[in-house]
Amino acid sequence: MTAVTETGYDQALTAIARRIDGANFIDGTWQQADTTERITVFNPSTGGELGRVPASTPADVAGAVEAARRAQPGWAALTPGRRSKLLLDVAAAIEARLPEFSYVEAIDAGKPLQVVVDEELPGVVDAMRFFAGAARTLPAPAGGDYLDGVTSIMRREPLGVIAGITPWNYPLLQAVAKVFPALATGNTFVLKPAETTPYSTALLAEAIAEQLPPGVFNVVFGTGAVAGDALTRHPAVAAVSFTGSIETGRRVGAAAADGVKKSIMELGGNSPVLVFDDADLESALDAIAAGGLYNTGQECMAASRVIAHSSIVDAVVEGLKVRCEREKVGDILDPATTIGPMNSLAQRDRVLDKIAGRSPGARIVTGGGIVEGPGYLLAPTVVTDVRDDEELVVEEIFGPVFTVQSFDSEDDALAKANGTRYGLAASVFTTDVGRAQRVQNALNFGTVWVNNHLVFAADLPVSGFGASGVGTENAELGLLEFTRLKHVMVDTR
Ligand code: NAD
Repeated sequence: MTAVTETGYDQALTAIARRIDGANFIDGTWQQADTTERITVFNPSTGGELGRVPASTPADVAGAVEAARRAQPGWAALTPGRRSKLLLDVAAAIEARLPEFSYVEAIDAGKPLQVVVDEELPGVVDAMRFFAGAARTLPAPAGGDYLDGVTSIMRREPLGVIAGITPWNYPLLQAVAKVFPALATGNTFVLKPAETTPYSTALLAEAIAEQLPPGVFNVVFGTGAVAGDALTRHPAVAAVSFTGSIETGRRVGAAAADGVKKSIMELGGNSPVLVFDDADLESALDAIAAGGLYNTGQECMAASRVIAHSSIVDAVVEGLKVRCEREKVGDILDPATTIGPMNSLAQRDRVLDKIAGRSPGARIVTGGGIVEGPGYLLAPTVVTDVRDDEELVVEEIFGPVFTVQSFDSEDDALAKANGTRYGLAASVFTTDVGRAQRVQNALNFGTVWVNNHLVFAADLPVSGFGASGVGTENAELGLLEFTRLKHVMVDTR
C-alpha cells in the first residue's frame, strides 16, 4: 500500500477544506456563496470538525446552472473523440493522484483507507475510462429509406444541463457514475453532493477544470431541501440524476415532473440472499459476509437479508456470526481494519433504532450495539428468529447488519425474497444450475448474482426495479439516459 499517511495527504484535505469554506465551484473557479450560513462537516472517525461548506441559496444554484448553460453548446460541439480524450486525461490525472484522492475519500466518508486505495478508487478511475470510451460508440436505429421517396437520419443529442444529487456512501463513485456519462455525451453538469461528504467531489471539480472548459462541471454545496430542490426545479435543467433514499427520491421526482423534465432515480435496496441446502456453504458465507459488511453495510445492494433453507439455517447463522466477529472494526488508517465507522452519528442512530425496533422474538446472535472507541463505530450484527414481515427484514437497514430467515421450498424462498417493495439486487447460492436459472428468472430485482454478491463494474447496468428506482445507471443504457434521439426525414424526390 502507498504510505498515504506519511506523505502529507492530511494537508491536502485541510487545504481543500479551506478552499471550499464558503465557496462553490462555478465556471471553473471557487466562487464565494451568496450566504454566510454554513454546514459543518464532521470526521466520522473522531467526531471532530473537518470543515464547513456553504448552505447555498437558490441564487448560488442559479449561478451554477447559468455557467453550465453557457458552456453547453461549445462542449457539445466537440467531437465525441475530443470529449473522450479530455475525459481520459481527467482519469489519468486522478489516477496519478490516487493516494491523495483515496485519503480524502477515506477520511471524509469513514472508509478503511487500504480498501479505498486497493478497490474503490481504482474502480472510480476505471468507470471514468469506461464512460470516456463509450462516448464514441453511441448506438441508434439505422438510418435508411423506410418510406418511398424519403431518407431518415438518426441523431443522438445531449439533453443540455444535467443536475446531479449524490449520497454520502460512495461520494466520488456516485459523482463519476453521473457526471462522466453526461459529459461524455455532450451535456454540462451541476452537482450537489451530500452534506456530510463534500471533499472528494471538490477535488474532482478542480481536476476536471484543469482539463475541460470552465462551466462544463460545477458543484454547489448545501442542503437537499434548499440547494437540491432549487437545482431540481431550475428551468434550465433538462434532467435530474438522483441517488439517495426512496423518500427523497419521491420528492425529487415530483419536483422534476412538475417541470416536465426527466429524472433518473437510483434509490434504496433490501437485497435478499437465498442459500439453498446444496450450496457450497463456506464460500457462500464468505461472499455473503463480504457483500453485507463492505462499506460498513452502507451499501444499497448490501447482502443484508439472508434466507436459508431450514436444514442449514443454524449453520448459516453460526457461519455469519463467526465471520462478523472476525472483522476488525476501528481505525481506518490501520491497514488491518476491515470495517470503519458509520458515516454520521445520525446514520448510526438510525441503524441502532432499527435494531431496537425488532420483533419481541427476534434474537441478536452477535453485535447489536456500538463499539467503544473514537468515531461512530457499530458492531457487525446478526439477528435471527425474525418475522418475515417486520421492518428490520423488509426495509433497508444501511448498516453492518444481517437478518436471517429460513425457507422450506423453492416457492417459499421466492415468496420471501420478493416480499419487499425494493427491487435493486438479490443473490442465490446453489450448485444446481437449473435451480439457479429458475430462481433468478423469478426474482424481481434489477441485479441478480448467482453464487456471488456485490461484484460489479461500470460496464454493467444498475436498474432498480419496484421502489428502488427509475432508469439505469452505468453501462451503455446509463449513457443513453443522458441523450435524446432525433429523427430527421429528408424528402429525396
Ligand atoms: P438522502 O435521500 O437523504 O439524500 C441524498 C441526497 O439528496 C443528498 O445530497 C441530499 O442533500 C439530497 N436531498 C435531500 N432532500 C432533497 C430534496 N428535497 N431535493 C433535492 N435533493 C435533496 O439519502 P442519503 O441518506 O444521503 O443516502 C442513503 C440512501 O441512498 C440509501 O437509501 C441508499 O440505499 C441510497 N443509495 C442508493 C444507491 C443506488 O444506486 N440505488 C446507491 C447509493 C445509495
